[in-house]
Amino acid sequence: GSTIGILGGGQLGRMLSVAASRLGYKTHIFEPGANPPAGQVADQVTTAAYEDEAALLAFADAVDVITYEFENIPTSALDTLEAHRPIRPGREALRVSQDRITEKEFLSDLGLTVAPFAAVQTKEELDAALDTIGTPSILKTRRFGYDGKGQARLNSQADAPAALADMAGSPSVLEGFVNFSHEVSVIAARGITGEVACFDPGENVHVGGILRTTTIPANLPGSMRMDAVLMASKILNALDYVGVMGVELFVTKDGLVVNEIAPRVHNSGHWTQNGCAVDQFEQHIRAVVGLSLGDGKRHSDVVMENLIGDDMDKVPALLSEPHVAVHLYGKAEAKAGRKMGHVNRVTPNA
Ligand code: ATP
Ligand code: MG
Ligand code: MG
Repeated sequence: GSTIGILGGGQLGRMLSVAASRLGYKTHIFEPGANPPAGQVADQVTTAAYEDEAALLAFADAVDVITYEFENIPTSALDTLEAHRPIRPGREALRVSQDRITEKEFLSDLGLTVAPFAAVQTKEELDAALDTIGTPSILKTRRFGYDGKGQARLNSQADAPAALADMAGSPSVLEGFVNFSHEVSVIAARGITGEVACFDPGENVHVGGILRTTTIPANLPGSMRMDAVLMASKILNALDYVGVMGVELFVTKDGLVVNEIAPRVHNSGHWTQNGCAVDQFEQHIRAVVGLSLGDGKRHSDVVMENLIGDDMDKVPALLSEPHVAVHLYGKAEAKAGRKMGHVNRVTPNA
């Protein structure tokens, strides 16, 4: 069989490796950090920095196709790798999603609704942005933010200096606060020949900026369920995308607003492991190696709950609960805010 190279050795890389292995592929992880969770299940690991040209070339040589578990891979590394092996999903998806401004411009050019936004770096630019966008609003770093890190909420103009100080000079974006009733996401897959398959939208609850639970089915009227799937398809087609993407949406009384996209498997898609015959990880692997997509139809209702930090103490009790699947990432230390695992509570459909 052939070998799939995965950039990033976290839990997503780990679960991608497991799925690849089930389909008979070998996996090779590239990860700068020591003892990555994916390293415990992959066939091979390269521990090296993204600036290490020789290590990148040796990695590319050792694999047949390259995919990734996170979107912030340095451009120089992508240039090196792409000259030797296909990278799927492709560069355009990474270019668009690495920067919140390019992402929002891309989405609004597609005719999709996003929060009002403006690029901000200086005090003057923030004042000007607040004149048009107003408060409440959120200042976010354009790049590298995740789990709500690199964000400051502005409830009034008076919060501006502190919010700007939080950004520490990073290029930022001011976003108008979207008055949503709840949040949903669509996990969508697109195959190498352009077919699109979406999993059922899930409803997401965040606590302290971190995803806490995803509940399937989401509370969505049928028309919005259709909108969500059509919006996701539009995004994947526009990018000539190959692989799985997470599309985060706000539900408002005026319709769906796109929050952000993630060009990879997504935490809010973990429910598919126990709710569908083919889960998001297998779907992603199928897409990047050029197999046809599988049946992602939902056979059960699921509530996915993340196990973060101290939640690990609940594992012994969870293991004896009926209809609960426990997924652990093999991380040594349960630090506050660290995603250690998740559980899927499953209710088979009648
Ligand atoms: P992730 O871990 O999903 O990548 P992130 O750090 O990129 O998170 P966002 O998804 O931009 O952060 O924001 C995190 C959460 O903050 C959102 O899921 C939502 O609950 C809230 N939020 C972000 N932007 C807005 C907005 N413009 N209006 C209202 N709420 C928002
Ligand atoms: Mg994000
Ligand atoms: Mg998000």
